[in-house]
Amino acid sequence: MDLIIFGPPGAGKGTQAARLEDTLGIKQLSTGDMLRAEVASGSDTGREMKALMDEGKLIPDDIMIRMIEGCLKMPECEKGYILDGFPRTLKQAEALDEMLEKNGRSIKHVLVLEVDESILLERVQKRAEETGGSRSDDNADTLKKRLDVYHEQTEPVLPYYKERNILRRIDGMAPMDDVTDEIYKIIGVKKAA
Ligand code: ATP
Ligand code: MG
Repeated sequence: MDLIIFGPPGAGKGTQAARLEDTLGIKQLSTGDMLRAEVASGSDTGREMKALMDEGKLIPDDIMIRMIEGCLKMPECEKGYILDGFPRTLKQAEALDEMLEKNGRSIKHVLVLEVDESILLERVQKRAEETGGSRSDDNADTLKKRLDVYHEQTEPVLPYYKERNILRRIDGMAPMDDVTDEIYKIIGVKKAA
């Protein structure tokens, strides 16, 4: 099962992707988590990445495409994966298609979590409190920029999948378990008992 989950910052992509990894045994591929690990390693690349992330900007496409290409080759992805944070631009989406085609695979479902902007700010502020501010991009100023980038660069990717009739929008403001149930319904998996 090859899946993508989209949604604005704080929409709950990571939460839902982790649940699917647990219950379906498909690999969660979170580019945000990968980048934060690189930053935490203290490498020079990590430092450059942190500067961009703190400004709410995107990491260059070629770097992200290489990162995902390596991940898709991992044996853990054989059974399937859920892309969380990728593709974020049309260029990334096109590159993804090319990689998948080469391997005879294709995206089965694209899930879009929809959440009102006023609620996103609350959620991100709550996450900042709960995690002791471990994500330096979780503040009101950077969130605003991340939202602009989402509207300008990531939302234009959605029609790309809508045309193929694999795009489904989900109410991301519903309780977390209801969101999970809705995802199961869409991907045609019976809920684990
Ligand atoms: P949340 O984790 O709350 O859903 P988010 O989607 O904004 O919010 P991440 O996916 O963790 O957060 O990404 C954090 C930052 O990492 C982005 O703002 C961007 O700078 C960088 N990033 C992550 N994925 C990509 C990507 N595919 N292309 C370019 N930059 C990326
Ligand atoms: Mg996330």
